Amino acid sequence: MPTIQVSTEEMTKQLHFTREIRNWNEAYTATTGRVRTACVRTFGCQMNEHDSEKLSGMLTQMGFLMVPEYSVNEEPKIADLILFNTCCVRENAEEKVYGHLGALKGAKRIKPTMITGVCGCMTEQPHAVEEIRRVYKNVDLVFGTRAAHKLPEYLHQVIFDNKRVLEVSKTEGEVAEGVPVERADDLKAWVTIMYGCNNFCSYCIVPYVRGRERSRKATDILAEVRGLVENGIQEITLLGQNVNSYGKDLEDNDGITDFADLLDLLCRETEIPRIRFMTSHPKDLSDRLIAAIARNKSVCNQLHLPVQSGSSRVLKEMNRKYTREEYLDLVARIRKAVPEITLSTDIIVGFPGETEADFEQTLSLVEQVRYDSAYTFIYSKRVGTPAATREDQVPEDVVKARFDRLLALQNSIGREINDGLVGRTLEVLCEGPSRTNEDRMTGRTEGNKIVNFIGGDGNLRGKMVRVHIDHAQTWSLEGTAEL
Ligand code: SF4
Repeated sequence: MPTIQVSTEEMTKQLHFTREIRNWNEAYTATTGRVRTACVRTFGCQMNEHDSEKLSGMLTQMGFLMVPEYSVNEEPKIADLILFNTCCVRENAEEKVYGHLGALKGAKRIKPTMITGVCGCMTEQPHAVEEIRRVYKNVDLVFGTRAAHKLPEYLHQVIFDNKRVLEVSKTEGEVAEGVPVERADDLKAWVTIMYGCNNFCSYCIVPYVRGRERSRKATDILAEVRGLVENGIQEITLLGQNVNSYGKDLEDNDGITDFADLLDLLCRETEIPRIRFMTSHPKDLSDRLIAAIARNKSVCNQLHLPVQSGSSRVLKEMNRKYTREEYLDLVARIRKAVPEITLSTDIIVGFPGETEADFEQTLSLVEQVRYDSAYTFIYSKRVGTPAATREDQVPEDVVKARFDRLLALQNSIGREINDGLVGRTLEVLCEGPSRTNEDRMTGRTEGNKIVNFIGGDGNLRGKMVRVHIDHAQTWSLEGTAEL
């Protein structure tokens, strides 16, 4: 089904609600001398972090002052509006949100005017909305990822109609353009290129909560990236659940047929120094895309390529649609075309039915590929996914022991790769002083490795700096700027 854009009329309607809330906030400031505050707390992935930048953009436009923290017991510090942008990929992420909502019950008694909202992936699940409706009566507003652009309308109902709004998305989702964004960083920016997923990996809840794939038009993406470059952004990360299927749902995209075309377009038409992207499903990573990574200097030599398991049997049960051999062949083709590429991956340990032999296949694949880094996860049962109903769940102690073995292996490989970089000079985009040691600067290489370094006059933020690597650690490098 072709992707539908949210209509201009709909976006104009949201602007109308935005103005009314802004007037309400300005009248409050005129009589009290204070500005109403809002805090967005984000759980989960980069997609959610960027969604929160949009929620903050809309709230700022409505006249709220965004604050990074909120209190639950000091009246002046309790934010006037608290919005949780939630994740449901793992069970503990949901539990954390319920914990925060419980803690806010007391805050609501201290400050009855406060507004509490919950949005994001968790609230696309009817059972979670029902739980909030029943147990967390202090929550005024619930809506899912697919309706996030309607925040002004929902908030308007809470404020002016004194309604409790608990929405479950009714559509597969559309693409909304023109939502304001309050970016957290002035050097690096997220750019969503598509929403949703069509893949239905058997362990994953994402397609159920984020809907089917919807790509943004290339012209809209290009306009956004041009604006970011004008504002001094040095690095963008293109986001999508599977960027490799970008554009397949668009009937007319001005000649841009796939993700490789989109990368070419952004490199040709803008002067963005660095482009990263995530996530890439291995089954859709084409030779055209490999060639686009190789030929475009601005596209970083870095790839996140989730493998999930090294066993073809488990991969089949995960519905990943590639085998171990096909994945290894893909890695070989990528490395042939882009020899300096750094590779990272996601791995799930303890998928139902995973045997010791399956797990050893994962270890051997990790040894063979030699990833720079890996995000390793213990399988988490998600209600509504096919894998959750399986009876052959792996015992917790077995999963934990396997997880520790995998982590130890990956850490030793990561360290060995980093050790091999000692003595080399790498280009680093400086992000400013290190958070843990103000005497050092920090930044990332094209391969996304963190480098902490000395040298320079402290004025290097936003500059590409050549850094001589003096020492290596498992997760980072240390060096000296060559100025
Ligand atoms: S590709 Fe698979 S793991 Fe990734 S979001 Fe889609 S269903 Fe989930």
